[in-house]
Amino acid sequence: MANPLYDKLFGRHAGKETAFLHLLTGEVVTHAEFVAMAARFANAFAALGVKAGDRLAVQVEKSPQALAAYAACVQSGIIFLPLNTAYTASEVAYFVENSGAALLICDPEKRDGLMPVARFANALLETLGPDGAGSLDERAREQPDHFDTVPRAGDDLAALLYTSGTTGRSKGAMLTQTNLLSNAQTLVDVWRFDKDDVLLHALPIFHTHGLFVATNITLLAGGAMIFVPKFDVDVMIDQLPQATSMMGVPTFYTRLLDDPRFTRALVDHMRLFISGSAPLLAETHAQFETRTGHRILERYGMTETNMNTSNPYDGVRRAGTVGLPLPGVELKITEPSTGRILPRGEIGQIEVRGPNVFKGYWHMPEKTREELRDDGFFITGDLGLIDDMGYVQIVGRNKDLIISGGYNIYPKEIEVLLDDQPGVLESAVVGVPHPDFGETVVGFVVAEKSGAPDLGQITTAVGDKLARFKHPRKLIVLDELPRNTMGKVQKNLLRQDYADLFSS
Ligand code: ATP
Ligand code: MG
Repeated sequence: MANPLYDKLFGRHAGKETAFLHLLTGEVVTHAEFVAMAARFANAFAALGVKAGDRLAVQVEKSPQALAAYAACVQSGIIFLPLNTAYTASEVAYFVENSGAALLICDPEKRDGLMPVARFANALLETLGPDGAGSLDERAREQPDHFDTVPRAGDDLAALLYTSGTTGRSKGAMLTQTNLLSNAQTLVDVWRFDKDDVLLHALPIFHTHGLFVATNITLLAGGAMIFVPKFDVDVMIDQLPQATSMMGVPTFYTRLLDDPRFTRALVDHMRLFISGSAPLLAETHAQFETRTGHRILERYGMTETNMNTSNPYDGVRRAGTVGLPLPGVELKITEPSTGRILPRGEIGQIEVRGPNVFKGYWHMPEKTREELRDDGFFITGDLGLIDDMGYVQIVGRNKDLIISGGYNIYPKEIEVLLDDQPGVLESAVVGVPHPDFGETVVGFVVAEKSGAPDLGQITTAVGDKLARFKHPRKLIVLDELPRNTMGKVQKNLLRQDYADLFSS
């Protein structure tokens, strides 16, 4: 029996001296060096007694070594569990304990803080990083650069990836070899990745976007990446001339557009710009096209399913939509209470089925039963519709739906209007408890740099366009919207902070 994920992503590259990672230090890691580095890590894990089926939690800054730890896990059949570098020790404690991780790897400076966590959760603790004397990568260097790949079946778990925690406590999504490989194969095909691609990679590698989309497809295609530790406009502008493609969250694009050095000439040679993880504003889409001549390709995915939809490579890229279901992915819009399939144009819950859909939530059988139906459809928690051209539009999350006086209100409808008002940079609309209506609408706006928005004028302008029950009862100016590290607006925090706004 083989190990399909390892064989396809890494095994094919053993012995290939072609560039894989371009680092900002000017260094190039070849495919062969990377595969050898991964084998040394696999030997180091084995020496520590970590074996196939064990969970290995990694909370480290982005580096080739961190990526090699992922490859080593795949080769050893160890379940890879990457953790957001912004998580505090007590947050890490939850993940390590919840997953029953055998080993936790961290940056050297976090070692002292995480020692009690590891002890409490009965996990080994190792450090990774150039400054760490006695660190895992230093010891891995002494290991042989060959490791006998552990056979795995398609249904075996390859990763335990926790959701971003935008709507509540993160859940561990169990991802199989087949989940990851089928999605990577589909995306290589639809986005036409090949060995000549150089992906400008500024995403974190603890999230599905940077790891299972960006990295897996580059490896599968045999291409190269420019590995940028953290998004930085200066670095991006410096590196774009060497790249052929870029993937990002919407804020990457708005920040590039804010910089006058980001011109058509800089990116004329580029093949593809992809956006996802959060909604790309139609305005950003339009500005990007005017400035560069490129239309950003927006796609939609999530931790539990990798990618579900994508705008087409050839053909119409429709702003404000996340495109068409990917080949092999079935997507339907259903009425939440009955599960009935809704006709085109009607808003309902988005359900998906396909080889990309995860195996369930780790140690949460009830939640898994609620959201992953017996027929294989996963209830994504997102609300959306299919438009007249068959493209999917996301209108928000089920949990963000506002029910006021018995009416359903979709925050996005109001946010789009608020965003259009003079002086408003961005907005978020949430429902907060109200004694008469159950919930009522509250709008949060962030002012543009140039000045303060006129709230009275906005209330009138937005009010003219909306039915009365949708009018924001209150508009509040914030310096910024609360976002998690993936750039997603955390509406649950706004709801919490303003829960008493209308209490009597
Ligand atoms: P949690 O499930 O813990 O609340 P999360 O859903 O934010 O966190 P992720 O799996 O990282 O965790 O994010 C997936 C979600 O991101 C999707 O369900 C969807 O709401 C949103 N999303 C992803 N891509 C897009 C997009 N192109 N447009 C709008 N929303 C998107
Ligand atoms: Mg989610």
